Amino acid sequence: MTGTEIVGQTMNTGIIIVAAGRGTRAGGELPKQWQCVGGQPVARWTLQAFAGRGLIVMVIHPDDRAVAEAAAQGLDVRLVPGGADRAASVAAGLEVLAKNTPDKVLIHDVARPCVSATVIEAVLAALDTHAGAAPALAVTDALWTGDAGLVSGTQDRTGLYRAQTPQGFDFEQILAAHRAHSGGAADDVAVARAAGMTVAIVPGDEANLKITAPGDFSRAANQLRGKMDVRLGNGFDVHAFEDGDHVVLCGVAVPHTHKLKGHSDADVGMHAVTDAIYGALAEGDIGRHFPPSDPQWKGADSAIFLRHAVSLARARGYAIGNIDLTLICERPKIDPHADEMTEKMASIMELDGNRISIKATTSERLGFTGREEGIAALATATLVAS
Ligand code: MG
Repeated sequence: MTGTEIVGQTMNTGIIIVAAGRGTRAGGELPKQWQCVGGQPVARWTLQAFAGRGLIVMVIHPDDRAVAEAAAQGLDVRLVPGGADRAASVAAGLEVLAKNTPDKVLIHDVARPCVSATVIEAVLAALDTHAGAAPALAVTDALWTGDAGLVSGTQDRTGLYRAQTPQGFDFEQILAAHRAHSGGAADDVAVARAAGMTVAIVPGDEANLKITAPGDFSRAANQLRGKMDVRLGNGFDVHAFEDGDHVVLCGVAVPHTHKLKGHSDADVGMHAVTDAIYGALAEGDIGRHFPPSDPQWKGADSAIFLRHAVSLARARGYAIGNIDLTLICERPKIDPHADEMTEKMASIMELDGNRISIKATTSERLGFTGREEGIAALATATLVAS
């Protein structure tokens, strides 16, 4: 890691994501942290919120290792088996981090996937001047006591806060506090205060909700929608017919009375898909990356272009969501070859075939495609930040 310093933060921060709970109140077959919200597991959103901010340890129930590995795939996260209760799980995470002697540690509930950079940075900044810091929201609703469905009294809300996470601490002090603690604490702030540490309150965020009840999944999805980075691109290409006996479409040689004219193999379908991916990345088109003036691309297999566009997308952190391609021609008939084309494209793009749609239409004998002067292709691609 580099020593790059951001305000209130160094790379010498340890992060513990507490994910060993069974989360039965939220409903569903799996513990809530492994259930999907906004297209991916709750835990993955949480891990992504902390990615790049330090060494991340996720404390899990031993039975959840496979789902945890799936949720953390491609992220730099160490999985650690948790203990009998929350405090024991945090203690297990602290002991693992102790080998790396971080200056600070952030301890966060996995079920708060909507935590913002603002909240994380406020906690880290407060740790420059306090042994502990945690986000909280002042209670603004009136507080009642109730008995058998009736209001039995009102409670003064002055000085009351709703606690959130991440709770941040000086690493050595919270490690010592946990080692000395006998258990049964509500949270890490309670452990810290029992050891005499001062804990500053920093502004929390209503969006930093904890998924607890089934209805919280849709609330979280609404918050996370703004974080979803989905890109859409389109591509259009045309190649004219010339004398020949087959055309190459989506990597498949289809017998025909003509071939397609072009600098490369003139695979009009693959070109449209490639341009759609470049378009989604705002990276121009095939001509920019593989100039037709360059003789080395003469007769080239268009799979080279498609592979390049796909690898560029992946290098930028995008997965291909789906591809939809329409070939426009009177002949040859595409349908008998569509499955083979899908298979070929799927293999080149290393993508599941069910994410690739290849279909065809005629132009009702109108225009250049109707007069059988050539083939046109129209493609759409979606890219999803992964
Ligand atoms: Mg072309």
